[in-house]
Amino acid sequence: MKSISLVVPVYNEEESLPLFFTRLDDIILKKNDAEKYDFEVLFIDDGSRDASLALIKAQADASDHIKYISFSRNFGKEAALSAGIRHATGDAVIPIDADLQHPLELVWEMLDKWERGADMVVGVRDKRSDEGFLKKKITKGFYKSINKISEIPLIENAGDFRLLDKQVVSVIRELPENNLFMKGLFSWVGFKVDTVHFEDKPRQGGKTTWNYWKL
Ligand code: UDP
Ligand code: MG
Repeated sequence: MKSISLVVPVYNEEESLPLFFTRLDDIILKKNDAEKYDFEVLFIDDGSRDASLALIKAQADASDHIKYISFSRNFGKEAALSAGIRHATGDAVIPIDADLQHPLELVWEMLDKWERGADMVVGVRDKRSDEGFLKKKITKGFYKSINKISEIPLIENAGDFRLLDKQVVSVIRELPENNLFMKGLFSWVGFKVDTVHFEDKPRQGGKTTWNYWKL
């Protein structure tokens, strides 16, 4: 049986997590016909100050599929993802956000393309629903400039939501980078890449930690 790891970075997501758990159950765990895959869901609590860690612990106690890593303070999403990728045991690893902006249904499409030979299946957002004119402009400008100066092209509107085959994961684990830019590393490693598309939705609850300065 092939094992699949979902890696979920979490920072102050008490408003989104209850629905995330329900969706995870309904869309992934219960739809796993004939137990085709062995799912592992690895949460990385990135030093949340709300009830997120308690909610995750309760789920982990109740289900064999659910595991977690708990950070001593907030280190940022890239660090959380990196720890998740380092500790995930699956034949494929899928980073996914906890705020339900990444549709869980898409996991099945990613698995399908993986089974048909892709080493990496990248989730591409077709529409940015909760972003203003300025953020869209800055994002567009970012891709334009980076793709001009960098030898490694970045797929526009692709985030961290993607499937990575264990070969890709092992290469990423070897990299010595400490100052992490996961999106860049994901493109740098190469491999056979395919895409799946989704419409970006507003977060389930809580608020983004991104701001214009960080962007
Ligand atoms: N996140 C994290 N550490 C942080 C900030 C965010 O682990 O310091 C998580 C967050 O809980 C979510 C994902 O990273 O699951 C994406 O964060 P956010 O929604 O704030 O970013 P955006 O979707 O606006 O890019
Ligand atoms: Mg978000």
